[in-house]
Amino acid sequence: MSVAPDTTAFAHALGAAVSRVHLPGSAGYAELTATYNLCTRLTPLAVVEAQTAQDVAAAVRVAGEHGVPVGVQSTGHGPWATMAGALLVATCGLDGLMVDPVSRVARIGAGVRWSAVIEAAAPHGLAPLCGSSPSVGVVGLLTGGGHGPLARTYGLSADRVLSFDVVTGDGVLRRASATENPDLYWGLRGGKGTLGIVTALELELVHQPEVYAGAVWFDAPDVPAVVRTWAQWSQLLPDQGTTSIAVMRLPAMPGVPPMLAGRTSVSVRFAWTGDPAVGEELLRAIRSVAAPLVDLVAVRPYAEIGIVHSDPEDPMPAVETHLLLEAFDAAAADQLLDLVGPQAATTQLMVEVRRLGGAVTTPLRGESVLGHRDAQWTVLAIGLGIPEIADLVRADARRIVDGLAPWRRPGALPNFHAGSGPDWALRVFGEDGARRLREVSLRYDPDGVLLGSRNVRDLPVGAATVATVEEELVLGA
Ligand SMILES: Cc1cc2nc3c(=O)[nH]c(=O)nc-3n(C[C@H](O)[C@H](O)[C@H](O)COP(=O)(O)OP(=O)(O)OC[C@H]3O[C@@H](n4cnc5c(N)ncnc54)[C@H](O)[C@@H]3O)c2cc1C
Repeated sequence: MSVAPDTTAFAHALGAAVSRVHLPGSAGYAELTATYNLCTRLTPLAVVEAQTAQDVAAAVRVAGEHGVPVGVQSTGHGPWATMAGALLVATCGLDGLMVDPVSRVARIGAGVRWSAVIEAAAPHGLAPLCGSSPSVGVVGLLTGGGHGPLARTYGLSADRVLSFDVVTGDGVLRRASATENPDLYWGLRGGKGTLGIVTALELELVHQPEVYAGAVWFDAPDVPAVVRTWAQWSQLLPDQGTTSIAVMRLPAMPGVPPMLAGRTSVSVRFAWTGDPAVGEELLRAIRSVAAPLVDLVAVRPYAEIGIVHSDPEDPMPAVETHLLLEAFDAAAADQLLDLVGPQAATTQLMVEVRRLGGAVTTPLRGESVLGHRDAQWTVLAIGLGIPEIADLVRADARRIVDGLAPWRRPGALPNFHAGSGPDWALRVFGEDGARRLREVSLRYDPDGVLLGSRNVRDLPVGAATVATVEEELVLGA
């Protein structure tokens, strides 16, 4: 039987254990519970603004003693639960960052964003493997794998982690690496916040001072030809190239260039890590389809990698839908055009198909929990989640999921599918991964103090497999 916590006693105990506690109604609480997806509003009992790893450990211990579950947030780019009735540990104060250019390793606090690491590594010609948006948090992204713009060359961000400092649900600060607590090391690289609150990590950097990268945009009449060409072209792309295609319907709003606003367009995103002349030659197949609206692909310092996706910086309410595909062949391209091409009636602002494969398929430092490494294609649709149209957007997203069913493979990537519960866990970790995560979680968090641990606690017994779990791929609003 669970007993409702005595919140006054809890707040007192927290205040005695850590220096910065924010309660509902305070400015600090509002700031630290803010999210990038405005559809998910966080309402925890209290927020601990951690300044040290010891703060995190103390907060987890106090919460455990009072029967209060603990969630974690850094930048708010990936909220998956409201945290009602929970304690939120905010890590943005853990902002330590050191780059060692000789060993090519960065030591990174849990509150650091990729943009800061990119900036610190750049003078040494080094690059951290970030995702599409440098504003995202390092730990949040790589605990979910981290499929970035150079993924097909260098693999996933998680594969570059040498060690984690992590507070487990029993309130103990531990180190996890290939040789220390290897079960935690296995589960933190892809298991999101299931096993602990990471306080810092050591990340290997790659030598990539410059990259031939950017995006080429085409207007509505050219969308069909570009999508069809890209479907063939991306199959043949060597691993030095990473690419995606996004059919966009961008509204006229701040941050959207006027020539892209209020029309259907398609953006081919491309990053090439090899000889730029070869990358340019390869991209000719795309550039020659039609005259681009905008062409931003050029040799750039890695520090400009965010331009490949040009993700919006400002928070918005979003309905997000993600699925994996076995193939994206000519028939799939035609189907995508029927579903979201210039003639289609869709409410999605963006539907992106990313080419995976290459180095993504091979774990670099031993096995990790991250599943679906062999998936070759991933789809992400984003629509506006404002109450007036959210139902329409969700129905439209289901139409797209159904339409792509012949090419779908079961499962999802945790970073693109911010759900919760046992069905979610089976979908993103697979049955073996979810059950092993549960075992590790029981070892380090026997009382299930971490909110993330609860996703693997109530896994169905028996023959449930990822393929039989009913799929709810449309999230938000
Ligand atoms: C604009 C945008 C672009 C994106 N592009 C990509 C991409 O290219 N590739 C990709 O793989 N993903 C991408 N993502 C998804 C992103 O990686 C996840 O949403 C990630 O969880 C965000 O991490 P955060 O720390 O910034 O967000 P937060 O909301 O602060 O954290 C999200 C979750 O990360 C986990 N987490 C955060 N900090 C810790 C910690 N200290 N210890 C343990 N767990 C922690 C927790 O589960 C937490 O709930 C993108 C998201 C956005 C919004």
